[in-house]
Amino acid sequence: MSSLPQDLLDILACPQCRGPLEVETASLRCDTCRLRYRVEHGIPVMLIHEAEPLGPDTDVPAAP
Ligand SMILES: [Zn+2]
Repeated sequence: MSSLPQDLLDILACPQCRGPLEVETASLRCDTCRLRYRVEHGIPVMLIHEAEPLGPDTDVPAAP
C-alpha cells in the first residue's frame, strides 16, 4: 500500500476538529483528537465513529 496522493492529503482534515492529519502507513492520525482513521484500499475512512482512539501515551501502530 503506497501513501496517499498529496493532492488528496491537502484537502483532508479531521472531521471532528477540522485540524490537519498525520499520515501513517495505512491510516491517518489526528493528534488533537487522538483518533486514528483507517485507510481502506486507498480510501480514507473519515468517520468519527469508525475512528480508533489512540492510547494515552503509546503510539502503537494498528494491527495489520
Ligand atoms: Zn481531530
